[in-house]
Amino acid sequence: MATNDHDHFNTLAVHAGVEPDPATGAIMTPIYQTSTFVQTYINEHKGYDYARAGNPTRTALENALATLEGGRYGLSFSSGMAAIDTVLRLVRPGETVICGNDVYGGTFRLFDKVLSDYGLRFRFVDTADTDAVRAALAAGPVRLVWLETPTNPTLRLADIAAISAAAHADGAWVAVDNTFASPALQRPLALGADFVVHSTTKYLGGHSDVVGGAIILNDDAAHERLKFLQKAVGAVSGPMDCFLTLRGLKTLALRMRAHCDNATAVARFLEDHPAVERVYYPGLTSHPQYDLARRQMAGPGGMVSFTLRGGEAAATTVACGTRLFKLAESLGGVESLIELPAAMTHASVGGPEALAAGFAVEPSLIRLSVGIEHPDDLVADLRQVLMMAG
Ligand code: PLP
Repeated sequence: MATNDHDHFNTLAVHAGVEPDPATGAIMTPIYQTSTFVQTYINEHKGYDYARAGNPTRTALENALATLEGGRYGLSFSSGMAAIDTVLRLVRPGETVICGNDVYGGTFRLFDKVLSDYGLRFRFVDTADTDAVRAALAAGPVRLVWLETPTNPTLRLADIAAISAAAHADGAWVAVDNTFASPALQRPLALGADFVVHSTTKYLGGHSDVVGGAIILNDDAAHERLKFLQKAVGAVSGPMDCFLTLRGLKTLALRMRAHCDNATAVARFLEDHPAVERVYYPGLTSHPQYDLARRQMAGPGGMVSFTLRGGEAAATTVACGTRLFKLAESLGGVESLIELPAAMTHASVGGPEALAAGFAVEPSLIRLSVGIEHPDDLVADLRQVLMMAG
């Protein structure tokens, strides 16, 4: 992934977007906690006039995110959902979006319960199946293909390069929600995608202390429009949130390595455990897209999902019985979390519309966000709780 001695990812993560403060030399970009900026004459200022339109702390974060994703432009938002919504505003009423049928529940809810009311049309398909995406493209004009890879919660992968080539041949854009992988493990723009989207709440922030989102892209015209939308709609991130995310980015490479190592240890332990029915993790050779994971990603990530032979009752016992893994929504922080997607993060994909779109979140599926604690402690926690569920 490195192109010269100075842009290995670990080095970029520490330095991207951040210059010593010109006024004081402060090595960290200050938190410019201000709503407005004094002008020397009408519209004569130092590049900032009002904090919804721009703020230096946000600029530093936006530049850092663009650099880490290998893109020209970064835009920061108040949440991942705000970033997703802003990309979807490039799609006009009557136009069609292809979307995976195993995406974050909030994404499905936005598409199905909000944006479809404004005339956007959605075709939900299994984006792990490139031929299914090709067939959906062939079924009529498409404006945007929305990929989440790995998916939340069953860790399926989409072949970004193959799908981008097919979509571009049909004049459609491709957006990739890169939240699960982070740019430390996967760079969708280099694989042909047009837009990368993040919930920076997760691995980029990394410490479960901030909610945020981002879009990264290369295209000038699309950037102009998205920057306009960012200001016109106004779901921007505040300076403190930008500062916290910038601080998180500095350790992204180290954290992702620890997440991958620990999740691999946990997934292998679960796969060998008699109470476990099935493990979903792209780092296991049993994962149906293990080869694609090795080709497309620099590591399998920190998310592991699994089902138990004891079904939903056993899953409830496990989710409520771990000690280190805390029962909570969200993911990507340094601390390990456990949850039941069907009842928690994906509760909004339980209805008949979701079923019709091909969503099937098993009630007994357990999702782990494996943190950076010692792997032996994480495995011991799961061992003790699986004894109760077994
Ligand atoms: N994308 C993915 C893959 C997510 O898991 C989430 C949240 O869990 C989001 C987007 C939405 O991000 P946010 O909660 O920051 O709005």
